[in-house]
Amino acid sequence: MTTENNVHLKFTDGTKTISVPAGTTILEAANAAGVRLVSQCTIGTCGTCVGRVACGDLVMPEGRVYSLRQDEMAAGHRLLCQSHAFAESEVELDYPAAMLDEYPVIVTAAKVGAVTWLGESVVELQLKLPKSVRFSFRAGQYVRMRVPGTDEWRSYSMASGERERKKLAFTIRVLPSGAMSDYLRTAAAVGDQIDLEGPIGGFGLADDPGPSLMIAGGTGLAPMLSMLETLQTARTDFPIRLVFGCTRAADLFHLDELDARRSFMRNLGVRVVVDEPGNELAPVPDVLTGNPVSVLTPEDVAHPQTSAYLCGPPAMLQGAEVRLLELGMPAERIHAEQFLPS
Ligand SMILES: Cc1cc2nc3c(=O)[nH]c(=O)nc-3n(C[C@H](O)[C@H](O)[C@H](O)COP(=O)(O)OP(=O)(O)OC[C@H]3O[C@@H](n4cnc5c(N)ncnc54)[C@H](O)[C@@H]3O)c2cc1C
Repeated sequence: MTTENNVHLKFTDGTKTISVPAGTTILEAANAAGVRLVSQCTIGTCGTCVGRVACGDLVMPEGRVYSLRQDEMAAGHRLLCQSHAFAESEVELDYPAAMLDEYPVIVTAAKVGAVTWLGESVVELQLKLPKSVRFSFRAGQYVRMRVPGTDEWRSYSMASGERERKKLAFTIRVLPSGAMSDYLRTAAAVGDQIDLEGPIGGFGLADDPGPSLMIAGGTGLAPMLSMLETLQTARTDFPIRLVFGCTRAADLFHLDELDARRSFMRNLGVRVVVDEPGNELAPVPDVLTGNPVSVLTPEDVAHPQTSAYLCGPPAMLQGAEVRLLELGMPAERIHAEQFLPS
């Protein structure tokens, strides 16, 4: 192995080359060279710093537990906080380098503005940022929040649009138990202080215009709502297809919100799907039975410029990726954010 190798970091807005000494990770070498990369945990568990090796050889030490699946590794995905360069390599990144300058990460104390139950198991948490804080983000990104009264941090995607910088909205699934879930169910009140760090992540709309296919599982709808606002402002005429699925009809939320958006975005089509329609509720009109993957059709990806955006639990993302590739969608047009368990 040579003592150092060049690694070409291919952002969506250009390429930057860094020299990576032996024993140094790509993230460390990039930091040392003043090249900023999207990252968060730095220990290989959050999956934020993922890149795809187009050519070359990036190796992650064996025997550790990572947030990448075998099929993702086989497709060339690597976590840059763990990867070492064993040859000159090219790594594709899903975001523009300029994003990190445009949307710097800040740490601040926000205040709870509202806690609204959107259904049986989902809360909309509204956070107000201090007037003195300059916070901006790209639709699709997320923040980390400290659960009040604990040292536990949890990640949540902004559901509000990127133009709204002082009041952020999050849609959060309230689980039967869990740090944030317990707080939201039993204690959350207007005026509570919540420490917040962000924005984080490279998930967001592709730079080139074209049809959008959004596939959301559960609260994976959050970043899609934010991205829809961006598309609405951009007044694009390209079709936007949103597929939103939950396990049970009782877990669905924001159907009225989606209806409203459909009424003022003529190019937006929405498919809502549940695994178990159940009969405990009045039937929800226009809800399909199945899951967000089973209702995909070849027509969804027929236009060659279609970009797919996937967000939700890891199993759904894996299924959706496999199906989209089967349908002939190029891997580089599939953008995904996994809601990995904390
Ligand atoms: C980038 C990103 C963005 C995300 N965005 C969203 C979003 O917009 N909306 C959303 O709803 N979620 C989102 N998530 C998921 C979110 O971060 C949390 O994982 C989720 O809300 C659960 O947090 P919690 O504190 O309620 O539960 P946790 O405390 O994480 O617990 C979850 C489950 O694990 C169990 N558990 C907890 N501790 C233990 C233990 N020690 N041993 C065994 N079991 C245990 C609990 O009983 C519970 O069933 C996102 C995740 C990521 C990575």
